[in-house]
Amino acid sequence: MPFHRISVGDFEIIAIQAQPNRMIQAAQLFPTVDHSEFDREFDRDSTYFGKDSTELRFTQNICLVRTGAHLVLVDTGVPHDREGALLLSGLNEAGISVNDITMVILTHRDMDHVGGNLVDGKPTFPNARYAIGRSEYEGYKVDPDRDTFGTFVAPLEAAGVLDIVSDDAEIVPGMRLWLTPGHRSGATSVLVGEGCLLTADVWHHPAQVGHPEWHIGFDSDADLASGTRAKVIAMAAEKNWLLAVPHTPEFGLGRIGELKGERVWVSVVVGDRVG
Ligand SMILES: [Zn+2]
Repeated sequence: MPFHRISVGDFEIIAIQAQPNRMIQAAQLFPTVDHSEFDREFDRDSTYFGKDSTELRFTQNICLVRTGAHLVLVDTGVPHDREGALLLSGLNEAGISVNDITMVILTHRDMDHVGGNLVDGKPTFPNARYAIGRSEYEGYKVDPDRDTFGTFVAPLEAAGVLDIVSDDAEIVPGMRLWLTPGHRSGATSVLVGEGCLLTADVWHHPAQVGHPEWHIGFDSDADLASGTRAKVIAMAAEKNWLLAVPHTPEFGLGRIGELKGERVWVSVVVGDRVG
């Protein structure tokens, strides 16, 4: 199955695998972390490694949230014509039409999160409003490292379907943005009711749950990203939130647990995934 449904309170979360599972080199993703750290991590819990400590399991999931009146998509994945783009086929298999989606939230500016905004220059989800937090919108517009604003966001503005909202806006009843900056300057995660958080690349591999100070090479502001990560992990552990994270296999659905005195990622969907 390329998707997984789970209920939390009055909400249904549907996590769709948007890119195939693959391996990524630990040294490539975490250039500043000494490799002996990964050996230790691998010995403690090898679940999210490949054949050895040099390989990390990686994927991408996109979440839909069904509320009473809305069907909200959080991010749009890679461009739909890119090889390995699975969002539209996953939606189809879940029995959801692009026409059913009433709201799209854009968490941050990366191509794997906004790349699916459009098809042939038109909004992919024709009946939806698209919402983005003001800080991320303004940062994206002038970001010299990501000059894709004109490709992926400006056409939404021109079509009159983009809402630039406050960084803590309630987008639909029960779903609120939470500013979680660092990976990108204005990235927002999404709180769903009282018991669930959809994170915006606050971390990229489950090993960071025990090591929030580990930052990936692509974090725009490493110190800010580490601080945000520590805060989110501590809060999620305290509240026992269901978390949905984009780049972890098993649909990125889990909670913060503890193993041998350290915080760990605990999947709630082990073994149910596509290749
Ligand atoms: Zn991402």
